[in-house]
Amino acid sequence: MKILISADMEGATGVTWPADVEPGTEQWQRCRAMFTSDVNGAIEGFYAGGATEVVVNEAHSTMRNLLLERLDDRAVMLTGRHKDLSMVEGVQHGDVDGLAFVGYHCGAGDEGVLAHTYLPNSITGVWLDGVPASEGRLNARVAAAYGTPVVLVTGDDRACADAAGYAPAARTAAVKDYVSRYAAVCRPPARTRADIAEAARAATALAGRTEPVRHGPLTVEIEVDAAQLAGAAALVPGVAQVAERRVRYTSPDAYEMIRCFKAVTTLIANAVEPLYG
Ligand SMILES: [Zn+2]
Repeated sequence: MKILISADMEGATGVTWPADVEPGTEQWQRCRAMFTSDVNGAIEGFYAGGATEVVVNEAHSTMRNLLLERLDDRAVMLTGRHKDLSMVEGVQHGDVDGLAFVGYHCGAGDEGVLAHTYLPNSITGVWLDGVPASEGRLNARVAAAYGTPVVLVTGDDRACADAAGYAPAARTAAVKDYVSRYAAVCRPPARTRADIAEAARAATALAGRTEPVRHGPLTVEIEVDAAQLAGAAALVPGVAQVAERRVRYTSPDAYEMIRCFKAVTTLIANAVEPLYG
């Protein structure tokens, strides 16, 4: 039984502040160990539950955050960026029995610790077929297209509540409780690692490939905080600026949907100016 862990950092133990997840800062160096501890908890739990193979796909920023030298040596890790399916790279091979979102967070505009969708700011809301969509919801849709269920979600308590909307059967482990976008009541890593391991162990029973879900067409709307960002997004063929600060596109399937999302967010990020945004 093969498990894929998509590991993002904003929802990791102890993380509440931009510098905690900003590569190169002193705080990021410190938080990498707690992030790695969360992932190790998941690996430990999945093996205890009966998994035979665990692959970790780094999903934060340039995707070079986890400490390989401290990773549970039963797992392997895909590190570095520029991957076909980005945060859920690996799920497209059709041999993943269960997907885990470790360190996930709420979507742009939501109340959650470090809430955002792809870009740290500039995007104020994302909707998939009219439903507010976090990264978890978008990535779960991609996984379903390849017959892989989401079995575990960890993050703050709000990210776990969000998971109930897109993967209601998944086990969850909250490592911290939301207070504000930049504050949380945090539990120490020794405790959260055990909580994640227990949730992962139970989640293994939910793993099992399903018929690939043929979604589509899928419509995505993205709201940004400045008009020129909508203009930049609309440079992608098929993406229309439908209001001053809103764009919309429709994709034939989940694969095209997430790839267009990546293209749009890349262009938006490129059009953000220092200070004024
Ligand atoms: Zn993220």
